[in-house]
Order: sequence, then C-alpha cells, then structure tokens
Amino acid sequence: MADIEVTLADGAKRSVENGSSVLEVAKAISTSLAKKAVAGKVNDKIVSLNQILDEDVKLEIVTKDSEEGLQVVWNTGAIVLEAAVQSIYPDIHFGTKGNVEHGFYCDTDNGAEQISVDSLPAIEDKMSELIKAQIPLKQELISENDALKIVDGDPYQAKLVHANAKDGKISAYNIADMTILSNAAVLENTKDVKVFKLLSVAGAYWEGKSSNPMLQRIYGTAFFKQKELDAELSRQREAHDRDHRVIGNNLDLFFVDPKVGAGLPYWMPKGATIRRTIERYIIDKEVANGYQHVYTPVLMNLDAYKTSGHWEHYREDMFPPMDMGDGEMLELRPMNCPSHIQIYKHHIRSYRELPIRIAELGMMHRYEKSGALSGLQRVREMTLNDGHTFVAPDQIQDEFKKILKLMVDVYDDFDITDYTFRLSYRDPKNTKKYFDDDAMWNKSQAMLKAAMDDLGLKYVEAEGEAAFYGPKLDVQTKTALGNEETLSTIQLDFMLPERFDLHYVGADGEEHRPVMIHRGLVSTMERFTAYLTEIYKGAFPTWLAPKQVTIIPVNQKLHGDYAEKLRQKMADKKIRVNVDKRNEKMGYKIREAQTQKIPYVLVVGDQELANGSVSVRKYGQKESESENNNMFIDSLIAEIQNYSRT
Ligand code: ATP
Ligand code: ZN
Repeated sequence: MADIEVTLADGAKRSVENGSSVLEVAKAISTSLAKKAVAGKVNDKIVSLNQILDEDVKLEIVTKDSEEGLQVVWNTGAIVLEAAVQSIYPDIHFGTKGNVEHGFYCDTDNGAEQISVDSLPAIEDKMSELIKAQIPLKQELISENDALKIVDGDPYQAKLVHANAKDGKISAYNIADMTILSNAAVLENTKDVKVFKLLSVAGAYWEGKSSNPMLQRIYGTAFFKQKELDAELSRQREAHDRDHRVIGNNLDLFFVDPKVGAGLPYWMPKGATIRRTIERYIIDKEVANGYQHVYTPVLMNLDAYKTSGHWEHYREDMFPPMDMGDGEMLELRPMNCPSHIQIYKHHIRSYRELPIRIAELGMMHRYEKSGALSGLQRVREMTLNDGHTFVAPDQIQDEFKKILKLMVDVYDDFDITDYTFRLSYRDPKNTKKYFDDDAMWNKSQAMLKAAMDDLGLKYVEAEGEAAFYGPKLDVQTKTALGNEETLSTIQLDFMLPERFDLHYVGADGEEHRPVMIHRGLVSTMERFTAYLTEIYKGAFPTWLAPKQVTIIPVNQKLHGDYAEKLRQKMADKKIRVNVDKRNEKMGYKIREAQTQKIPYVLVVGDQELANGSVSVRKYGQKESESENNNMFIDSLIAEIQNYSRT
C-alpha cells in the first residue's frame, strides 16, 4: 500500500504505511512514547490508539501525563460505568454520558427504582469485574438500524442514535455481552481504568430542560495513578467543606427551595444577621465617602427600560413585564441604573455639586437560567450594593481611582486578599448585545485601561464581558467549586446619560452632559455572603458572626443570675450574646458552640462568680483563659470595631 504523510506536533513529517494505526506510528517514533501513549490527536480530534490512518494527517500523540490523557481515561470510565449499570439493571434507560470538569458521568432512568448513592457500591464492584476481565475495547461501526434495535424501548438513546449517526453509522464498543454506543476516544482495554471511584448521584434534566424528565446522573472519576485519585478526592472533600451551600445548611443561614421558587433565597435569622451587619457596614462606609443613600422602587414603567436599552439588549435576562390592563406595563428591574437616573434628573444639577454619588442597596430581579443557579452565588432575586456616580468628563480618572481605593479599603476590612482584575470589553461583532457606537466604545475602553495603567495595577483583558452600555473593571474571585465569579465591578458609561438626556449646568452657564460610573463594591448581598462563607469556612470573624458570645453557667441555679447579668451588660453594648440555659451537660454545650463556630464561649462557675471573671474559650482553641469580665467586654468591643480577623 502507498505511504501517507503524517505531520507531527513539532512540525516533523513522517511517511508511514497507509492503514497504520495511531499506536503503530507512536511505536515507530519511539518505544518510550508508545508506552506513555493513550490516544492520538488527529487533525485536532482525539481518537483511540487503534484508529487507522488512511490519509495525510496532522498527528499528536496524547500521553498519560497530559490533560487530554485524562479526558481519554474518563471517556473510558463512562463506557465501563454504563456497561456495569446495564448489566445490573437490564431494563434501565440511558441519557447522555461524557466528561465533566473533574471526571465523567452517565445519565440513567430506572423508573420508580431510581439509582441513588446506595446503588454505587454494587456498580463499582461490577465495574471492577469488567476491568479485571481485561476486555479489549475495539470500535465497531454499526448501522443506525442495528443501533436502534440494540436500544429498543429506550426513548433517550433512540434520540441520541438519530442525533449521532454519521453516514448512517454509529460508533459502538462491545463490553462482555453488551454493546455500548459511544463515539468518544477510549483506552485500549477495560483494564486501563483500574484507578477509579464513583462519587455521587444528582438529578439532571434530559437535554437540560426543566420541562423534560429528571434523570439520575452518576458521577465518577478515574486516573492513571492512585496518588492522583487520592489528591483529587482530598481536593473534593476540601471544596465540599468550604461550599457555602453546605455550610449555609449546617449553620442554618439560608435556604433555597425550587418548589417555592428557584433562585429565590430565604434568609434564616442567622444569615439575616450576617447580611444586616454587612449592609450597615457598607452604608456607613459609603456615607462617610460622600455617597447619598436612597430607596427606589423595584417596579418601574417598562418605557424606562426601553429608553435605557435594557429592553433591546438585556431582555433575555429580565422577568416578563406585567400588563396592568390599563395600558401600563410594569417591569421588575434587572438593574438600578434607570432608578438612580430618575433621582439625578429630579433636580437641576450644577457643576459645583459634581461628582454626585447616589447609592442604594437595590433589590433587582434577573431571570438567570435554571442550570446556572447556585445557592446564594447566583440567584434570581438579589440586592446589589449599587452606586452611580455622575461626573464631569474631566473628573472620570480621579473618581475611578477614588472608587478603587474605597474598594481596596473595604476588602481590607473583610480580609479579602485573593482576587484579580479583569478589564471587560465589548465583543465588536456582537451588535445584538452591545450598543452600536464604535467611537464611544473605543474612547471608554481606552480611558479605563489608561486609568489602570496609571495606577500600575495588573489586569487581564476579556472581550465580550462588558455591560451592554459600557466597559467594566471586574474583580474576579474563585468559588469553592473553582468557578470564577465577579465580585466587585466599576463601569464607565457615556451611553445612558445620552439616552436619558442628562445634564448639569457648567461654570459657563451652559448645559453639559455628565458621565456615569456604575459601581458595585461588595457585589450583591447574596453573592458576597456566599463568598465570605467560603473564605471563612463558616467561622465568621467576631464582628460578622451571627452569635458572638455564648455564656454557659456551670450550674443554672447557682450561676444563672451572674450569667444573665453578664448577658445584659453585653447586649446593652450591642454584642450578640445568649445564655445557654438548656438542661444539657456542659461538655455538650461547649462542643455545640464549636460546631456553630461561635467566636467566644464563656463558662461561669463558683470562681468566676466570686471574683467577677469569665472563663474564656475562643473558637478553634482548646484551652480556656480566665479574664476579668469588664476587660473581656472591652477587648471584645475593640475587636468588633476594628473588624479584626481573629
Ligand atoms: P455576572 O457576569 O456575574 O452574571 P453581570 O456582569 O451581569 O454579572 P452586573 O450587571 O455588573 O453583573 O451586576 C453587578 C454585580 O452583581 C456583579 O458583579 C455580581 O457580583 C452580582 N451579580 C450579578 N448577577 C448575579 C446573580 N444572578 N446572583 C447574585 N449576584 C449577582
Ligand atoms: Zn448601573
């Protein structure tokens, strides 16, 4: 047979016999490469090692130690998982299978007998059996009709066969007496997936649509080495322990119940206390920095959002308008800007007043996709620490720097250190999302960049992340699950002042157009609380902790009055404190205070009563220390006032 030409990753070209497999080419390059090889990348598509090459191609050998190598072991894990499930539950139906960020999944529908975490050990055993049986995985191309016969009675798979057939053929693998449909690249033999683990089961809608049946998605992961799997499992445990949804539930901070409303959170008393503390803090801070706090309605006439451009550019994220039946259309606001514009417009403004800084803890509603909702991180009703500064054009740089300085100051108080800056620009091709005005965009993007360069701050640039009305400086943080989310944002806007025909009277007595700076310092109360819960792992610093002190009398009869006196004294100083009067053992009460992550436990007994002291046990410490009660209270107040971390 004639030779074909293979161009390797480093650009080198090789002649190989037409009909060679990827593995044969790897062997011809070097034995050590062939040993590490797990797949090939032919013209940028990952294929199995036994893929036959029959034309000139670009070829890269995918090795065990690469990111793509992991994709291949996960592909293989997914088909072995499906085979194991099929052999235990012969009548089960399958949705899609594939890879996720840290492993693989397979969707199942077992009727009334749903697959659950309890089913996982038996499925794992079956997978181990198939792996021990060392079954070669050879791709077969079967006809669409044969494939339909194989999946007979499974509506999901039948749909997948139609969707995935190429030239009337479907790719499949035979494992034991089962035929598993898959067109993913896999390892050569089931034995190559020996290091694996099934992790969890969660509901997933067929085709991701909430109007479709809910399937049970089995998650698993696999690696080439045990120590890689161990590292991944410990990373997952750590992420789980930090996940604000887990902590929020354990500490009873908030809940979201899709039956009552997906993405519409309920703040329980303790979560509400944390939120109230943040709100008071931020209002005080902003007022001290020249902001005027206002209240404006969550409902507004739809016309305002037509003027602002939201209706044209942001409609998909908005709740549908309410037709009031008398010609009035009301809209739940997705942003507060048009509301603050009304405040600005309510008076004639003079250049002497600028910058005018209007702020609000503004409640807004956005119709986020149900799949994107996550605890308090991404919700549909949220309250933004919003602010709009109206400036004269020559005040932009200065005001931008002031906002940034204020933001860093606030971050210091919350001990936020792990963040990056992102300059978010428009995508010039996306005229549906962005206002179509090249000159305006070029000017505002350049100004933002210049301000950052001027401050000597590092940033990344991201096209297509701007707001529809202007570019932004976003502050990016990572969630426990490893997703990047925007926390703070500063946005430059020449558009809305134009659209709403805003002006101020200049020194020359003429009307001039102001520029708007939109800014959210600590994001929405929802996302910020989620973020803080994760960075503190639920152990909030004293100033934010829902309960700051719990007093435990050794004996309620003997020491109850002293405990109550102390409680009153602290409560008078606005300290959040209680006396644990329950009829439980002291050790139990102390342990519970620790699980609740209460910063201070005070035990009071005979000795404390006699000399007016308290036995102080700080969260996270094993030892208690005796302290005069007045001194304890004074240092506690100082700690709270200084927003101390410990
Ligand atoms: P994102 O990119 O996070 O969707 P955005 O660019 O649409 O946000 P802005 O209009 O700038 O957001 O909103 C201001 C801030 O409100 C964001 O920086 C973010 O911190 C927060 N935020 C936005 N959407 C949500 C949401 N659905 N749930 C909670 N907080 C949100
Ligand atoms: Zn705004």
